[in-house]
Amino acid sequence: MLKIDTEACIACGLCEETCTFGAIRVEGDHAVVGDNCTLCGACVEVCEVGALRLEREEGVQTADLDSWAGVWVYAEFRHGRIAPVALELLGAGRGLADKRGVALSAVLLGSGAEAADGRGLRGAAAELIAHGADRVYLVDDPALARFTDDVYGNILTDLIREHKPEIVLAGATAVGRSFIPRVATMMAAGLTADCTELDIRGEDGALLQTRPAFGGNIMATIVCPRTRPQMATVRPMVMKPLARDDQRRGEVVEVRPEAARLQSRVKVLDSVVAALDKVNLAEADIVVAGGRGLENAEGFALLHRLADSLGGAVAASRAAVDSGWIPYPHQVGQTGKTVAPKLYIACGISGAIQHLVGMQSAETIVAINRDPEAPIFNVATYGIVGDLFQVIPKLIEKIEQRNKG
Ligand SMILES: Cc1cc2nc3c(=O)[nH]c(=O)nc-3n(C[C@H](O)[C@H](O)[C@H](O)COP(=O)(O)OP(=O)(O)OC[C@H]3O[C@@H](n4cnc5c(N)ncnc54)[C@H](O)[C@@H]3O)c2cc1C
Repeated sequence: MLKIDTEACIACGLCEETCTFGAIRVEGDHAVVGDNCTLCGACVEVCEVGALRLEREEGVQTADLDSWAGVWVYAEFRHGRIAPVALELLGAGRGLADKRGVALSAVLLGSGAEAADGRGLRGAAAELIAHGADRVYLVDDPALARFTDDVYGNILTDLIREHKPEIVLAGATAVGRSFIPRVATMMAAGLTADCTELDIRGEDGALLQTRPAFGGNIMATIVCPRTRPQMATVRPMVMKPLARDDQRRGEVVEVRPEAARLQSRVKVLDSVVAALDKVNLAEADIVVAGGRGLENAEGFALLHRLADSLGGAVAASRAAVDSGWIPYPHQVGQTGKTVAPKLYIACGISGAIQHLVGMQSAETIVAINRDPEAPIFNVATYGIVGDLFQVIPKLIEKIEQRNKG
C-alpha cells in the first residue's frame, strides 16, 4: 500500500499532478490516497521530501484463495450491441464454470438509451443469459454511454472486489486491451493477453491460459497460482459461442455505482470508425488467402478472381503484406485479424503458427501448396499439392461453370 508520512508532507501537490489515476490529492496540510491507487509509484518518485512510501503486500491475496469463486465475462457493449466476442467468451466460460462447479456471470456496462435493438440493456442482458450466463451484473448509466478507461476500470474493479470471482475473461478488442490491464493492476492480479485456449487444471482448479510466446514459436501455458482473480483476454473469433437458448433462465443484478466512481478524467470529443477497419474479413463466410507463394501483387489479381467467383473476401499472410502486395487490413494471424469463416482457402501459405492462430477455427480449410510437407496441411480439411498458378485458374473455371449452371 501507499504510506503517507503526514508530518513530512508539505502539501506541495506534486503527487496530485503526477497521478494519472486521480488517486491522490492534497486535503488540508497533507496528501490523502484514494481506493483507486494502483501502486504504480509515480507519486513516490516525484515527492521531493520523501513523504511517500510504497509498501507492497506480497501475496496479499494468497491467504484466502478459496474465498474467490465463479467465472466472469466482461460483456463488451458498444454502439448499442453486444460485441460477438462476449458471446464467444460465454461459450468458453460456460465450460470452465461447469468444470469448477461454479456460476458463470457476465458484466454488462453501458447506457440503456444506446441499445440498438430498442430493447435496451435489459434486452442485452437477456441475450447474455440465452448464451450461457447464469447471472448478469448490469450497470446502466448515461456516464457509461461512451467508453473511458478510468470509469470502466473503476466499475469493474469495484464489482470484482465485492464479489470475488476466481476467473475474469474479456475480449482482446481495442476496449478490452485498453482497460483490462488497468483492472488487473488495481487488483494486483496476473493477466494473460491474447489467449488461444483456456482450461482448468484438474488437481487445483487453476486456470490454464495458453497463448503464443517467443514470437509465436511456442505455445505457452500460463498459470497464476497465487493471486485472484485469474484474468485473461481472448481475441474475437477464437472461441465458439453456444447456440442461443431463450429457455435458459438467469438472474439480472442491477448495480448502482457511487457517483464519484463515474467521474472520468477523460473527455471524449468524437469517435470515428477508421477507414482501414472497413475490410470486413471477420464477417465473411468465405475467405481466400494468399501468401508469399503468390510471388507479387499481380498474383493477388488471380486471388481476387477466385474470391469473386465464390463471393468471398481476400486475406493474406504477413509475408505478402510485408512485401507490399496487399494492405495490412487484409492480414490474418497473430498480428493481424482473427477469422472463423465457413471456408478458408490458403494459397501459397506455409502455415506458420502466427498465421494459424488467426484462421484455424475456420469450419473447412482448403490448402493449395506445392510443398507436400508444408505445415498448413496439418490443419487443412482438404489439401491440394500443386502449383497454385495451375490449380487456381482450374478452380475458377469450374466454379464459374457451376455458377452459370
Ligand atoms: C511476432 C510475429 C508475428 C507474426 N504475425 C503474423 C501474422 O499475423 N500473420 C502471418 O501470416 N504471419 C505472421 N508472422 C510471420 C510468420 O512467422 C511467417 O513468416 C509468415 O506467415 C509466412 O508467410 P507465408 O506462409 O506467406 O510465406 P512462406 O512461409 O514463405 O510460405 C510460402 C509458401 O508458399 C508455397 N509456394 C511457393 N510457391 C508456390 C506455388 N507456385 N504454388 C503453391 N505453393 C507455393 C511454399 O511451398 C511455401 O509453403 C509473424 C511472425 C512473428 C515473429
